[in-house]
Amino acid sequence: MSHMFCFLIISDFSPAGILTKKTKLYKDTSRLEVPLLRKIVLFLVLTLLISAWSGVYAAPAPAAPQAKPVIDLPQINSGQSTESAGANQLLELSKVRWANHTEAVTGAAKLRLVMDVSGGPVEASGVVVATPTPRLVVTIKGTTPGKSVENINFDGKIAEKVTFDTSGQDTQVIVDLPVMLEDGDYRVFTLRSDAQANKPFRVVVDINKPAPVFDFSFTPGLKNKVIAIDPGHGGSDPGAIGPSGYQEKTATLAVAQNVKNLLEKAGARVIMTRQDDRDVYGPNATAVDELKARTTVADSRKADVFISIHANSFTDRAVGGTATYYYQKTRYDAMLARALQTGLIEAGKLQDRRANPANFYVIKRTRMPAALVELAFISNPDEEKLLSSPEFQQKMSLGIVRGLERFFDQAAKLN
Ligand SMILES: [Zn+2]
Repeated sequence: MSHMFCFLIISDFSPAGILTKKTKLYKDTSRLEVPLLRKIVLFLVLTLLISAWSGVYAAPAPAAPQAKPVIDLPQINSGQSTESAGANQLLELSKVRWANHTEAVTGAAKLRLVMDVSGGPVEASGVVVATPTPRLVVTIKGTTPGKSVENINFDGKIAEKVTFDTSGQDTQVIVDLPVMLEDGDYRVFTLRSDAQANKPFRVVVDINKPAPVFDFSFTPGLKNKVIAIDPGHGGSDPGAIGPSGYQEKTATLAVAQNVKNLLEKAGARVIMTRQDDRDVYGPNATAVDELKARTTVADSRKADVFISIHANSFTDRAVGGTATYYYQKTRYDAMLARALQTGLIEAGKLQDRRANPANFYVIKRTRMPAALVELAFISNPDEEKLLSSPEFQQKMSLGIVRGLERFFDQAAKLN
């Protein structure tokens, strides 16, 4: 852009001799003002032009403190620098490597990402964000991802995936994480280039996943417990829909709000993944993003237990009953599910479909003991009616709270 601008201006004004001739031709003093004005305009335009050029070329060198750029920045020489005019003077991320390491004894795992920067040094820094999903965002200043740099998919043990993006003059390396990291769990640093070892300037990201220690110590009672309640579905996702049109998301929210009130009366602190009819991540997010947003809420607020509330559905409308699911990642998950299931059956008196193991995302990916309850079958016309009635909603809420009391009493005995 600036080169084009420059060319047009010069073709109009640069034969300065013409102006002089014209000045001589027009002896008429009234006309003398015109060339004079032109000179002033020319002067102003050139001044503007020079400042525009220095804006392009004199941009601060993307250098780290105490480090001198290895490459030379383009010099202002003539107006003919057509190649570089307007082009970004960004260094390039030329290559990305990674390695995984797991300690056999402790189970602690480590992921190292190494990014080569041709012509570095550059500055890099990282920050962990919890929303919309857990991420480590590394900003590498004054760089752009090279053509060979591709996004990487991981197994989700330490990282889900790494995405390379540009943000203004910087590269953003976005590491999607399965769970929130603490500040001490990652490190971003740079390594100088080493000509002898033929190594370029490097940006290194280390992510440490500590050994899976589940250090829970439960006491009896609900007082001061931090309980995450996840009303299933919401917003753009109605969940299952009953034969007469009642939606799962409505029942789960009503029961969750009752549970919240009861727990708070008992002195517990309640964290809701949603308080109203909305998506937790955002409208029409992918299923995983939406579920991860829910586990992130519980993880980042350090809940003691996590309960996801749902209603079941099946093609056969005669099928009904209450079930609870768990993923045994701590020694408490099954215990929590059984206690909740007992509470729910005592309260609602529906068919006991028991506490069962399952691989559901929200109970697997939360750090704390978790359970997913299926209150009743919304596909069953009788149970749909129950689910929509405030009396049954309140009964089942009480069942959940009694189940939680039972759980903390049992868990306290394990200490
Ligand atoms: Zn559901």
